Order: sequence, then C-alpha cells, then structure tokens
Amino acid sequence: PEFVKKLQASFTSDSTIHIATVQDLANKNITTQNATNTWTWTATNISDVTCAVSNHYDWDAASVLVDDKAHRRVAVQAAFADGSEDFHHYVQFARNSLDWFSHNLPGVPYPFPKTTSVQGFADMEYPMMVNDSHETDLVFAQLVQDHEIAHTYFPFYMGTNESRYAFMDEGWATTFEILIGTAERGKKAADDFYKQFRVTRWIHGPHEKEQPIITPSPDVTFGAGNNAYGKPSLSYLALKDMLGDDLFKKALHVYMANWNSKHPIPWDYFNSMKAGSGKNLDWFFYNWFFTPYYIDIDLDKVDKTSGGYTLSVKNIGGFAVPFDANVTYADGTTETFHQTPIVWEKDQKLAVINIKTSKEVKSIVLDGGIFMDANEKDNKWVAN
Ligand SMILES: [Zn+2]
Repeated sequence: PEFVKKLQASFTSDSTIHIATVQDLANKNITTQNATNTWTWTATNISDVTCAVSNHYDWDAASVLVDDKAHRRVAVQAAFADGSEDFHHYVQFARNSLDWFSHNLPGVPYPFPKTTSVQGFADMEYPMMVNDSHETDLVFAQLVQDHEIAHTYFPFYMGTNESRYAFMDEGWATTFEILIGTAERGKKAADDFYKQFRVTRWIHGPHEKEQPIITPSPDVTFGAGNNAYGKPSLSYLALKDMLGDDLFKKALHVYMANWNSKHPIPWDYFNSMKAGSGKNLDWFFYNWFFTPYYIDIDLDKVDKTSGGYTLSVKNIGGFAVPFDANVTYADGTTETFHQTPIVWEKDQKLAVINIKTSKEVKSIVLDGGIFMDANEKDNKWVAN
C-alpha cells in the first residue's frame, strides 16, 4: 500500500516522486510477499504491447498536462539502474517531450494514458514505452528520448507500416527531433547536430546510387537509413518552410485526423496534405518522393536590373529546397533574402529570383542551412 500511495500521488504531481529507491529495493518489500503475484494491464486503441520487468531497477514517476481543454494528465515514469545518472532525469525529460509535442508540433495531445522510459540496450520505441541505453552525455540522452517518444504519433497513433514505409515514421521522428531540439538547445545546436547526424553522411554521394524515397523500405539497396530518416525529414521541413508554420500545422492535422489508427500509406499523406493546405502539391511530392534527387544548387548567373538584381539558380541535385540568398553590399552591410521551395514550382531545374535593392551588391552566397549542399563551390557570386 505504501508504494501504491506514491504511485497514485504521481498521477497529479509535476515533480518526480521516487516510488522505489535503492533503499526500498534493499528492503525487498515493494511487492506483496506472496509466492507469486499477478499483474493485469489494460490498454485500448493501442497497436502493440510491450512489457518490462525488473527486480533491481529504481522507479520514478510524475505526470504532465497534455490536453488543456479536457484537463487530461498523462503518467510519466522511468525504470533504471541507480548508477545511470541520465535516467534520474528521464521523468522530467519525458514530461518536457509530452508537453512540447502536445502543445506545439504535431500539436495533438499525447494520445495515450502513460509513457515509461526503461533502461535497456535498444534506443527503441514502443506504444507508451521507450527502451533507451544509458548515455553519459545528458544532451544526447535527452535527444534520443525525445526521438523515441516522438514515435508515439508516427507510427503508433497513425498505425503506419514502418516495415514497408520507414520514411512515414522515422522521417517524422527525425523532424520532431530537430524542432523540439531547437526549443531545448537553440537553433544553432539543433541545426549542427541534425547536419552531422542526419545529412552529412549522404549528401556528398555517391549520388548515382540514390533511390526515390517512395521505394518500399525492403527494396532499398543503398542508403536505407538516409531514405528512412534524413531525406524524408528534409521533405517535411521543406514543406513546412513553403507552407509556413500555420498552414503546415493545419494540413498536418487534417492528415492526422483523417488517418489516425487507419494505417495510412504515402498517398493518404499526400492527399491529406493537399486537401488540408488547399494547395496543389503534386509537383512537390513528385520532386521529393519519386525521384533519385539530392541537394545541390548552383548560383549560375547574377544580372543587374533597373530595380536591383536577378539571380539565376540552377538545381543540379534536383530537390526542391529552401535557401537563403545572403547578400553583402559594397557599403559592407548585409541582407538575407529567404527563398522557400515555391521558387521551384514552375521550373524545377531553374529558379529566377529578383532581389529589390538600390544598393550596389559586392557578393552573394546561397546557403541552405540544414539543407546541406553537395557542392558549395558554385554557391557564390562576386561582383567584378
Ligand atoms: Zn526512430
């Protein structure tokens, strides 16, 4: 009863309650001392069930408000070896994850009654549970936990087939990973990690081996991880850049409302995003999902016009990416002109961009940020 009382208190507590500590474990009285005990779990609207049992793990718990309208709180628990410093933070890390995902993006209240982080060896997601390895780097530990918890929505809430369409869940978890990472650590740290972990490994080729993202995962013969994680994640972020945050979220909610628990396939995603945004996105989805493209833009030509400058940007790699045109004027001042992927709508091989200015331009550099360029040497123009 003593431990049940602590568990019940955690259901309304923001701060972490230590349900079973090292001392409690040493006393060996946490469960009723019968020859055998039986536990019964009940779950509804769950695509799969996983269970972990330990006779030597600490057990922490708290809860977090995920649905403001319904005043619904979700239980947040962790089970781990006492010596794992990172896991002592996991209840609060997970509270932050559930809060952020519920209130920002995807912006759908966490759909299950509970989440538990269990120390294991997998870095793997399950409905209502993540199994993470012990990490000595707390920043990386939080990032992995954020990623695995993000899978709550894709694939579990939606019911996507992760074996056939890995990009429909890993691509999203990777996208939420950088978005929540930006909130936690700032844009530069989140971008740097994403570049190093999700883009650098494939952006320099060999490009002739690229396969379209739409390729069913079992048939991908090269760069399976890139097709599952980095490339689709960039497509989701490119779409967000093009539609803007509000319209992107609105369209995403149409997709999630239409298809949660109904096992959507890629075409359900495409159609829902088109319906939800009210835009014809066929060209965009064709560009990102049905081609063996990569990222390489080329600042081919800069012409002076009466109102400023015209930039001719060739798309060598093919993907419809956003980028910044960073302009340095002759007077030493600088200005950034952001271009969303809409610049590729009419002609996916050539974008013509007008920059309005009365000032003399000294140089222009195109910078895609996390949309890393395979060849940055052709991204710069300097006035004669
Ligand atoms: Zn994942």
